[in-house]
Amino acid sequence: MEKILQVNDLHVSFSTYGGEVKAVRGVNFDLHKGETLAIVGESGCGKSVTSQSIMRLIPEPPGKITKGSILFKNKDLTKLSEPELRKIRGADISMIFQDPMTALNPTLTIGDQIMEGIIQHKKVSKTEAKKQALEMLQLVGIPSPIERLKQYPHEFSGGMRQRIVIAMSLVCQPEILIADEPTTALDVTIQAQILRLFKDIQQKTGVSIILITHDLGVVAQVADRVAVMYAGRIVEAGNRREIFYKGEHPYTKGLLNSVPRLDLDGEELVPIVGSPPDLFSPPVGCAFAARCDYAMEVCERVYPMKTALSEEHYVDCWLQDPRAPKPIKTVISTI
Ligand code: SF4
Ligand code: MG
Repeated sequence: MEKILQVNDLHVSFSTYGGEVKAVRGVNFDLHKGETLAIVGESGCGKSVTSQSIMRLIPEPPGKITKGSILFKNKDLTKLSEPELRKIRGADISMIFQDPMTALNPTLTIGDQIMEGIIQHKKVSKTEAKKQALEMLQLVGIPSPIERLKQYPHEFSGGMRQRIVIAMSLVCQPEILIADEPTTALDVTIQAQILRLFKDIQQKTGVSIILITHDLGVVAQVADRVAVMYAGRIVEAGNRREIFYKGEHPYTKGLLNSVPRLDLDGEELVPIVGSPPDLFSPPVGCAFAARCDYAMEVCERVYPMKTALSEEHYVDCWLQDPRAPKPIKTVISTI
């Protein structure tokens, strides 16, 4: 499948009074054309920082991409100037956040806001912009769009506002849409509608989607592939079935055991005990070791190498690695 975005060995740090927080520590992934890749993990795992780095939206300083590349259309986004980035943001790569109110201006009608984006990026007349704004509202399922264009954000429900934000993000037909917790603020029924809308739009436009979420229920509904992040790294990635049915990393298993599943009626939910490590001084070995029931001596000392379990399924865990020292508890000193 065609790769539309390639993130290679991305490292992002933030300098603070307490020291340097290493929020993203060597993230690698490809995004394929027309797919939905979910990046999942607990808050603070670096998933939002990763997605904001793609758009170069992390405040620099205190944030800094310290290493790695983000390739889009033969360009390394980490190397572009602010004017070059401005051309890409919105037009080629667009982003949607959790709270639609922060993306909407409360003092302008939604018609004016959608049209402003169209006029700014496409340099078309007001009449043409209005026509396109109406088409967009139809695409995202806003009823009576002609009347709705004249209304202000507060006149819409949360779910409708998120639909409008999605419409605004699509006006320039971006190739990549990054959605950071786009349904977290919405109730479950509306959440399902918005997720269906993403799928619908993807079928109609072919847009590639990166979905950032802490919610495996959301992942199950829309993702083609899943990357599980922990303490600034992707610890397991695979297609949706592989992650849900053959997830091998103890952290992935922990996440799966901590959410209710309809197919396993009556199974007890087990929360993951403990908390993620401090990213001021992240552990040298596996960052999950302190919470892992299977942790071995080697885990704390050496970060596990990537092990391929299938063409698309990768895991960073000594348990799965045939290169692990044998017997597995033996101390190794040469890596
Ligand atoms: Fe657990 Fe070791 Fe695997 Fe880390 S590498 S998840 S500590 S078994
Ligand atoms: Mg976040």
